[in-house]
Amino acid sequence: MTIRTKLTLQFVLLSASLSLISFLTIYILSAKNQKEEFFRRLESRAYSTAELLINIESIDSSILKTIDINKKDVLDFENISIYDENFEEIYTNNDTLNFNQILDDLPSFLFEVSANGKQRISDGELSVVGMKFNSKENSFILVACAIDSYGLGILKTMRLILVSVFLLVLIITGLTGWFFAGKALLPISSVIAEVNKITPNNLSTRLQERMNNDELAALTQTFNNLLNRIESAFQIQKNFVSNASHELRNPLTAITSQLEVALLNKRSPVEYEKILLSILEDIKRLNDMSHQLIQLSQMENSGTVFPFENLRIDDLIWETKNELINQKPEWTVKLTLKELPEFENKLIIKGNPHLLKICFNNLIENACKFSPDKMVKIEIQVHSDFLSIKFMDNGIGISSEDLKHIFEPFYRAKNASEINGYGIGLSITKKIVELHRGEISVVSDLISGTTFIITLPLS
Ligand code: ADP
Repeated sequence: MTIRTKLTLQFVLLSASLSLISFLTIYILSAKNQKEEFFRRLESRAYSTAELLINIESIDSSILKTIDINKKDVLDFENISIYDENFEEIYTNNDTLNFNQILDDLPSFLFEVSANGKQRISDGELSVVGMKFNSKENSFILVACAIDSYGLGILKTMRLILVSVFLLVLIITGLTGWFFAGKALLPISSVIAEVNKITPNNLSTRLQERMNNDELAALTQTFNNLLNRIESAFQIQKNFVSNASHELRNPLTAITSQLEVALLNKRSPVEYEKILLSILEDIKRLNDMSHQLIQLSQMENSGTVFPFENLRIDDLIWETKNELINQKPEWTVKLTLKELPEFENKLIIKGNPHLLKICFNNLIENACKFSPDKMVKIEIQVHSDFLSIKFMDNGIGISSEDLKHIFEPFYRAKNASEINGYGIGLSITKKIVELHRGEISVVSDLISGTTFIITLPLS
């Protein structure tokens, strides 16, 4: 079911319920009022009859009957009867309609009237009222009945009018609902049409922004922001493939040309050894790169589960530093703890030691690799519920243009081209920090060097 149909139906349902409630209330109250009015009329007729018969001595039953029969406003099926204390009928204005035929049990009705003073009954269209009438000497019971043809006729007309108006309300609300729902949804249809035109080949297309400040303007803005993100992710993906193939091709071309040159002539064992060592160097590079690529794909695979444990951050950095220095004794790593925390547990975080070591290793390696003095200063600072770790160097720095891209896979700044690397390390580092619900930022310029700052939540 389309939203337009749904909205129209809801609109019709709401107006139908409201109209039904109001129409029913009007009808029920009118019917009640009409009935009450008719009972009162019956009672007053019965009283006047009794007054005439009982209180005016000159009028007897036969005169009264003649008066009653000749009245112009006799009601349909009207019968006014008077009973004495023994429930004997002393007068009736209608011999054809007997109360014994109308009431199931006339004596018990009369008994109830004499006990309660008054009794009203409705039997189908017929209304019956019974009441006590006291003269100076005796007390009587008056019973009157009639059909309120006039009132019932009015109610019938009223029913007809209300049903017709109700149907008219349904039709009008259905049509107007359909019209307004269509009008309200028209901009959505145009947004759908615009979005449908966007394909991977024209990802730079944006939806037309709306002037007004409504939900649709917000939706269009959200769509455009999403498109911005998709376009940049798409661009990164494209760069990734072209950079990866480029990085893979360089060592493979070097290996191929070295082997071709070696095979051109017969050479001495020393020359072969030299060539083999150079090829081994290229293969090691390839190996390193594929290792880093595997790490990156593991990090990007949301299905991989890395077990977390409580870790002391200074110990972990210390271990990473020692392992690195064993391989690169020429590097200097200075670790300081800014304002030693009161409790040691303030240095404990929840994390995966293997991943965090990769992360610290990359940052230390970069700092030393890109600094002529081969030195990095690491500073740990504990805050209320997180800790920050700074990796500071006095190296070649990163230009503001390159800073925007250094976390993209395979991106290498122009000033780093002479130094070994593949441009994958920082992408892995960022993913690891994010996996630990932390953040990574960088401050750098081409004069004073680079500082990477990691924040990690405390355990
Ligand atoms: P790699 O170090 O293998 O080139 P990374 O992903 O670790 O790859 O780093 C990406 C790029 O960021 C580097 O090529 C370099 O241009 C820049 N970079 C990272 N760390 C530093 C640093 N400490 N000093 C200067 N440039 C850096």
